[in-house]
This record gives sequence, C-alpha cells and structure tokens, in this order.
Amino acid sequence: MPWKLSARAEKMNPSAIREILKVTEKPNIISFAGGLPSSRTFPVEAFAEACAKVLRDDAPGALQYAASEGYGPLREAVAASLPWAVDASQVLITTGSQQGLDLVAKVLIDSGSRILVETPTYLGALQAFTPMEPQVVDVASDDKGVVVDDLAAKAADARFLYLLPNFQNPTGRSMSEARRTALLARAAELGLPLIEDNPYGDLWFDQPPPLPLSARHPQGCVYLGSFSKVLAPGLRLGYIVAPPVLFPKLLQAKQAADLHSPGFNQRMVAEVIKDGFLERHVPTIRALYKTQRDAMLAALAREMQGLGVQWNTPSGGMFLWARLPEGLSAIELLPRAVDKGVAFVPGAPFYAGPPDARTLRLSFVTASVAQIDTGIAALAAAIREARGA
Ligand code: PMP
Repeated sequence: MPWKLSARAEKMNPSAIREILKVTEKPNIISFAGGLPSSRTFPVEAFAEACAKVLRDDAPGALQYAASEGYGPLREAVAASLPWAVDASQVLITTGSQQGLDLVAKVLIDSGSRILVETPTYLGALQAFTPMEPQVVDVASDDKGVVVDDLAAKAADARFLYLLPNFQNPTGRSMSEARRTALLARAAELGLPLIEDNPYGDLWFDQPPPLPLSARHPQGCVYLGSFSKVLAPGLRLGYIVAPPVLFPKLLQAKQAADLHSPGFNQRMVAEVIKDGFLERHVPTIRALYKTQRDAMLAALAREMQGLGVQWNTPSGGMFLWARLPEGLSAIELLPRAVDKGVAFVPGAPFYAGPPDARTLRLSFVTASVAQIDTGIAALAAAIREARGA
C-alpha cells in the first residue's frame, strides 16, 4: 500500500533519549538516566481508599464522558493551591503537562514562527513544538537561567519564550529572584509572552523557590503544572493556567486532542488532595530526594577526584548536571559506562542549537543510595578509561 507520510511526520524523530534508554534496560544496570520519580513516593493507600470512594459515591460521573475543561472540584483545588489569585475558570486540566506543551504548540505556533527556549531545555518540549515547524532559537543561559541581555536581539516577532524557572530539566538549576524580576521587566518591554513550565517547583530542599513568573504577570504568562512529581506520573494529570484571551483556544485544542482527561483519575486526585494531603505528603518526597541528592554529591566528590569532571548542586528537583573534561563526549562515554553497569543521559539532545557534547544529566531520585555509590564509582571508572583511551 503506497502510504504517503505527511511532511510533519517525516520530520518527527524517535526521542533520542528513548533510543538511548533502550541500552539501559539491560538487567543489572544502575540507571541515572530516566526522569522517573521514585516509586517509593507513590501514595498507594491513599489512592486505594480514594478509588473505592469514587466508585461508591460517583461511579456514573467517574466513568462517563465529561467536560473538556476538567472536573470542577479539581480545577478549584488547583486554583486554590497556586500562590496568586487564579479563578478556577482559568484552569484547564490536561493529560499530563506534556499535553499542555502540545496544546500550547498547536495554539501559538505557525510554520516558521520564531520561539525562544533556554540553553539547554526540556527535550519533551522540543518534541511537542517541532511538529508545528517553528524556528527554535536558543537564548544564552547560565546557572541562574536565561541571560536577559540575550533576549533583545532574538525576541522580535517571537511567539513566546519557554522556560523552567525551578529545578530545570535537564540542568537542575533555578532562576534567582533578581533574574526573575529582570526577565519580567525585559519581557514586558519586548512584548514577549512566557510559557512557564513548573513540574518540579514543589520539590525544594531547603527553602521554597521564588514566586513563579506567572504570579507576577498572569496576563503575560501561560503556566503549566503537573501531578506527576507530587503524586504519580501514571495518573497522567497536569494543568494549564491561561489568561482569558487564550483559554478558549486551548480548550478547543484539548477537545480535538482527547475530549477530556480521564474523569476517574481526576476524581481520585481531587479526593486524595482534599484536606491538605499534599502538605503532609510532599515534605516526605523532599526529604527523600534531598538525601539522594546529598548521596550523589558525596559520591561524586569521592569518586571523581582528579578527573576534571564538573557538576552543580541543585537545590531541588530530580536532576544534576555534569560536564566531562575537555576532549570527552558524553554520547561516546555512554556505551562504555553501560558496559560498567551504569547509565545516564547525554546532554546533547537537550540543546535546540549547537550542543555542549561534554554535558550529561544524572537523576538522583530513582536509584537507591547504595546504587548511587556503586553507580558513580562505575561512572568514574568509565571516565578514567575514556581519558586513557
Ligand atoms: N515538563 C518538564 C520540564 C518535565 O520534565 C516533564 C516530565 N519529564 C513534563 C513537562 C511532563 O510531565 P507530565 O506530562 O508527566 O506532567
């Protein structure tokens, strides 16, 4: 049969990460690669109770088609949880925040539209934006996020700047208060809309991050949130908070995509989080991830001595960003590391522009502390070998 693919499909690529992760699925590999929340944090009992209650009290509602906007009590709970005045009518429940990125792409990007991203940025966002055929321009970024002075030259006619101010994926870095203020002032001058993706903001270790950008300029921002990292990613529930001018279009795109996110899951989450459950649960995730981060930092300090490897100290989230010594490439190192029993994600696929081939992302949340010790030692051995090669 002579199937003819669309130009859009021709441009789609298998996720570089998924391809890379296939190697890591071998048994006995310690993986720092995937962005998987620790399954130890999933509140299974709370879900079992909520599931039974939803089926007992509201099975017809939970199992029937429903409104595309989302389940009312969940929209209200989301609105009430945010640190700025949000009306529930501005909250669109999505099938993970990944769907939020897809809807934003459909509603805001034409073929050839210029969009701005951080350097590096979340690979899944690049995947969601690319089918709309934008011109993706990367903005210079440092350990505090986008470099505001690099915006003016790039912002002309840009549809938006996509950014992750808290514990970024892949770098783990966060935007400082001063940088947020400067960025908002410059974005307002330039008339540049912002897409703020914040799935990790609640996972802070010592102190909460500064207020979201959306809280300071709600009309100029679309905010994406997620239940994946505070409850469980398998629920596939996230949300968009959008200004009233955009909301109807996002809703229409959502209707076309999947009619609505699963009503059953939405009711379960609404049931689980009522009465302040997250205020008790999220601190346990923070404590666990902080211990894991500390274990990885200690292992790196111990094992990488003299190897010329650099890394950062994220103050929350799930990832740490490292840089190999000059002359080494993370993609080339990966098979050698897998041979030694450890996997990571090379940084290159996260760059919209020219990549820094020496970078790599290490997740500190999925492996146990004992595995972190063994895995970082194995990584150091692979680096030592590669330096000698
Ligand atoms: N944005 C970022 C920055 C992410 O890291 C992720 C998950 N890897 C997502 C969005 C998507 O998350 P979900 O669809 O599970 O809400």
